[in-house]
Amino acid sequence: MEVDDIISYLDLVQAERGTLQKGMNYRFGKTYSVFLMSIRKGAPYADELDSETGLLIYEGHDEPKTATCPVPKNVDQPLQTPKGSWTENGKFFRAATDFSSGLIKEPELIKVYEKITKGIWCYKGFFELVGARIVASNNRKVFKFELRPVRKKVFGSRVVLPVNRLIPSHVKQEVWKRDHGRCVLCGDTHNLHFDHEIPFSKGGSSLTAVNVRLLCAKHNLQKSDKIMSFVPWIISGASVTGASFVSN
Ligand SMILES: [Zn+2]
Repeated sequence: MEVDDIISYLDLVQAERGTLQKGMNYRFGKTYSVFLMSIRKGAPYADELDSETGLLIYEGHDEPKTATCPVPKNVDQPLQTPKGSWTENGKFFRAATDFSSGLIKEPELIKVYEKITKGIWCYKGFFELVGARIVASNNRKVFKFELRPVRKKVFGSRVVLPVNRLIPSHVKQEVWKRDHGRCVLCGDTHNLHFDHEIPFSKGGSSLTAVNVRLLCAKHNLQKSDKIMSFVPWIISGASVTGASFVSN
């Protein structure tokens, strides 16, 4: 699965070999956790990019609605359950502080999927949990988890990716509606992908729907074939033939 691929909920369950019933799933996979993002009611954007740190911010989760907690939005997000075990907020908060205090060397790896519309999801890739904060929001405490996009390489090493490569959820939702859930070139409704029309690597923006469109797998592949080319470079007077591979 590639970043920005559009999948069904069933594809998601098959990829993770299990049903995800909550948004935050600590160590759902053997070596990684899973976050589901979906636009919260009343929130302008599901994902918030922190302009100071350049990180993606994921908000923690509320207390479940029960007889003793009828309005979860009125109480602090919980670190522990009433029985004293860690909530998912607590597990991730501990993982983040263990990393920032140097107790663990590598940050927790989190795979992120985001909901586009009912039954339609998008794979957002892997992230590292590099920080967590508890902040005051409308007179209560909420968790803010700081994520840095990474690509996993063979043998497990990771490369940090630029955060502005990420297409925000609200842009994806706009594109999905505008393109009617179909490939803009052939109308196919299967194996779709969010494509940067001008590739990110060539300066194309992720932040506006104008540069993003839906392409099917076939047309996405044809596009990468076209862009992948051998380009002669002239470097400081010497002529060198180099391979230039540009992916979107
Ligand atoms: Zn197509």
